[in-house]
Amino acid sequence: MAYTFKIQPAEKVRLKHYDPEHTGGLTREQGEAKLAVLSKELDVLQEELYAAGLDSVLVILQGMDTSGKDGAIRHVFEPCNPQGINVTSFKVPTAEELGHDFLWRIHQQTPERGMIGVFNRSHYEDVLVVRVHELVSKKVWRARYEQINHFESMLAQNRTLIFKFYLHISREEQEQRLLAREQDVAKAWKLSVGDWKERAYWDRYIEAYEDALSLCNTEAAPWQIVPANAKWFRNVAIAQALVDGLRPRRKKWQARLAEISTARLAELKVYRDSL
Ligand code: ADP
Repeated sequence: MAYTFKIQPAEKVRLKHYDPEHTGGLTREQGEAKLAVLSKELDVLQEELYAAGLDSVLVILQGMDTSGKDGAIRHVFEPCNPQGINVTSFKVPTAEELGHDFLWRIHQQTPERGMIGVFNRSHYEDVLVVRVHELVSKKVWRARYEQINHFESMLAQNRTLIFKFYLHISREEQEQRLLAREQDVAKAWKLSVGDWKERAYWDRYIEAYEDALSLCNTEAAPWQIVPANAKWFRNVAIAQALVDGLRPRRKKWQARLAEISTARLAELKVYRDSL
């Protein structure tokens, strides 16, 4: 059972048709119990991915401010061995990064085989914030959708399994979350005037997201929309999508692990016999 919404090929995404409140018919208790089970499986899958070293996994998280990118990373990957996970947060580009093409800094952080690379924001910022604030000309950002598709297709052809999640919250939910940060002194460090300023551009961000989701939804790197008003459901939906996406690779990883084990045992036997 999938809890994320997969975008159909050639679909022109309208986010208002997707319900951010959706919780897949689960209660919170059921969702939390499900997450516990999925977490265990994800931990096993990650260990096999790592040990077999055949594939890389790239998880891209995008969403409006406060949509829960950090929370999702913390909860979904909590059970996994930190040595197998690399999280990268993409911020405003440095002068050096701006001196290169927009994918230069991204490509440096893509995961090596065996690793899960998690992107908190990504190259999609270059068709989101950059488009909304007109940081480059329309001609430049327009060309990027195709460049992104080529880049992701190249990664996929080189054995990177790509998961792209759009964390979908409503405008009202964002307001609640921003106000909650003001109420809680312990969480006020999360506050940023910038978040309120960006909120004024909500409609333009939605438009930019709809284009990114529609134009970069390829077979090699499909988008999934994650209903994210309920934080617990967001975590279940992402964990389920990852487990469903990784499970089919398991046979290959286990076959590789069996080969490695046989070779190691044979080496050990040669050594013992030589004593
Ligand atoms: P968080 O991801 O937790 O919101 P910050 O508050 O530091 O972290 O925000 C990072 C900021 O960097 C965001 O406002 C985002 O839009 C911006 N950013 C990321 N990539 C780019 C980019 N390519 N060009 C311009 N701004 C970017």
